[in-house]
Amino acid sequence: MTATAGINSDPKKRAQIVVVGAGFAGLSAVKALSKADADITLIDRRNHHLFQPLLYQVATAALSPSQIASPIRSIVRRQKNASVILDEALGVDREAHEVILRDRTVPYDFLVLATGARHAYFGKDAWEDHAPGLKALEDANAIRNNILLAFERAERAPPGPARDRALTFAIIGGGPTGVELAGAIAELSKRALACDFRRTRCSDPHVILIEAGPRLLPSFSPRISGYVLASLQKRGVDVRLGAPVSDIGDKRLAVAGETIDADTIIWAAGVRASPAADWLGASRDRAGRADVRGDLSIEGAPEIFVIGDTASAAGADGKPVPGLAPAAKQQGAYVGRVIASRLGGKAPPAPFRYMDFGSLATIGRNDAVAEFGGVKLTGFFAWLFWCAIHIYFLIGFRNRIVVTLDWMWSYVTLERGARLITESVGFKEKAPGAAAAVMTLAAE
Ligand SMILES: Cc1cc2nc3c(=O)[nH]c(=O)nc-3n(C[C@H](O)[C@H](O)[C@H](O)COP(=O)(O)OP(=O)(O)OC[C@H]3O[C@@H](n4cnc5c(N)ncnc54)[C@H](O)[C@@H]3O)c2cc1C
Repeated sequence: MTATAGINSDPKKRAQIVVVGAGFAGLSAVKALSKADADITLIDRRNHHLFQPLLYQVATAALSPSQIASPIRSIVRRQKNASVILDEALGVDREAHEVILRDRTVPYDFLVLATGARHAYFGKDAWEDHAPGLKALEDANAIRNNILLAFERAERAPPGPARDRALTFAIIGGGPTGVELAGAIAELSKRALACDFRRTRCSDPHVILIEAGPRLLPSFSPRISGYVLASLQKRGVDVRLGAPVSDIGDKRLAVAGETIDADTIIWAAGVRASPAADWLGASRDRAGRADVRGDLSIEGAPEIFVIGDTASAAGADGKPVPGLAPAAKQQGAYVGRVIASRLGGKAPPAPFRYMDFGSLATIGRNDAVAEFGGVKLTGFFAWLFWCAIHIYFLIGFRNRIVVTLDWMWSYVTLERGARLITESVGFKEKAPGAAAAVMTLAAE
């Protein structure tokens, strides 16, 4: 072992590299180290890598969970210097150079923290119970169950407030996730479900997209935001701009002086970094992301790197690198190169530079927006491009084939293949202690 700031004093011992988080950033760091003469331990609290950009399709019954997730062990199966631990990191002992897991510690010479982000409710944590966010497969399953059950409730209820509430879907946050969810729920309501129900008509569901700022997709140009607004409105989505949410309760929210009753409320308005900065005692930005240096290590600890959604790195233009999958992948690959160069006693690579290849968001069938430098695409060709890119980046050959076939099938038939309610709906006797998990079909 060489230039690891004297951490590993035994030159015969292989360097121990610990990577926490098998998201886009962590996995790409592990892959970049495939030829390193080191033992890599990849730790994640889930056994699968999740392709979050398609999570909304699971939440809206277009895809099933296994189509957008792959077991971590099978992803790194062929990489002989890597092993996987299923466990949750709870902290880092910087003095002892150990990662603290639930019931043990793992020593490291190099540590890469890539633990992503979670929902943030701007200090109103109680809102989470009423307006769940979309981050993990469990969230997507719960949202899909809620949406499908709301239709079942509406079909059973007589016309009136309870039925209207069941058919009201409120999405908070007009970024890409909010736009994609609103478009997909409108499509699910009006195309697929309306055909299968006898008493629910196409025009009954009310999908509301609520954004505090003046326009949708603020990271895109104003022209694209205007296009998305018009497109969603054409699909029947009720878009409220400049409408901050002031309160969320049980099936009810207060928006710009109005109270909206909705059985389904989804939060897509904010994220906060995982607590990696707390573990390290490192400085952080307002979203809790650890401040990192040009080589993505933290101040005072050249052997500790923080990457992906949990890092606050400056881009070439001085703006923070965005919390996007390509940025996370690029950072993972970069840190792999930094560590490999240190292990090989070579000169370090130049400081990290984020390559922005553009942004994409889909609104629904045949409709998406894309922006690459000065090039702006909208409509069908942007949608085709969106489909191709997502298939390309999806991990696993089988998933690519299955998702392509599913999309083609849905395109032709307008069907949504994953319309299964997987929670008990209260018909069966409840298991002791399971009361909270049982969803109710009855309209209260
Ligand atoms: C719904 C949604 C839609 C999105 N759409 C897009 C899109 O269209 N395009 C785009 O570019 N980006 C999109 N993003 C953002 C993109 O997914 C993230 O920027 C990217 O996943 C960040 O990668 P990461 O590796 O930093 O974190 P993640 O991919 O979140 O991975 C973090 C990993 O760390 C693990 N972990 C967390 N805490 C611990 C712990 N304490 N111990 C052990 N393991 C832990 C998690 O289980 C997870 O596997 C979307 C995100 C969401 C939620």
